[in-house]
Amino acid sequence: MNGTVTGMPLGIQEVVVTTGNRTGWIEVICGSMFSGKTEELIRRLRRAQIANQKVTIIKPKLDIRYSEEFIVSHNQQKIASKAVDFAEEILVVAADAQVIGIDEAQFLKGDLVEVCKKLAKSGKRVIVAGLDKDYRGKPFEPVPQLLAEAEYITKTVAICMKCGNPANYTQRITKSRDLVLLGATDSYEARCRACFEPPEET
Ligand SMILES: [Zn+2]
Repeated sequence: MNGTVTGMPLGIQEVVVTTGNRTGWIEVICGSMFSGKTEELIRRLRRAQIANQKVTIIKPKLDIRYSEEFIVSHNQQKIASKAVDFAEEILVVAADAQVIGIDEAQFLKGDLVEVCKKLAKSGKRVIVAGLDKDYRGKPFEPVPQLLAEAEYITKTVAICMKCGNPANYTQRITKSRDLVLLGATDSYEARCRACFEPPEET
């Protein structure tokens, strides 16, 4: 299965090695902002570490809040955290991992769906966390496509900041029309179906 991934930065090559017939799988954790997606991702990765599995967590470089770092769990084991621009880079930086966690999936460039399929087929457990809807309440790729591929899906639900109902929407409370407002958690609220007000179409 070796070959060059087209359209990617130079030097990025497909290095996934298949492990016989033992297949991995894809888990997706999705929901609105403030629903605890990252917490759930970290919880699963820590459980895998306790079982002495090799774990890597991937974060988009686009998200400048995160750089290459480690997340230290309570038993002092570390989860290696790697920042990438393109989903295809995961095939290289997580080549050794048995379990791969991918946070903020909606911010990765490249074809994350294909990458996750390759990783799972090569025997890895892939856990993807991300927003399934944007601030307009519309599907936010690639998470909706990943839901179709995933063996396991967890929908996390926040609490509506207006009324306390279960919240499945991310309300932008500023006027900006950029799809991505990074690190600006005070520009958003979790809202329920009744309280969510989609922005006017332009
Ligand atoms: Zn509400």
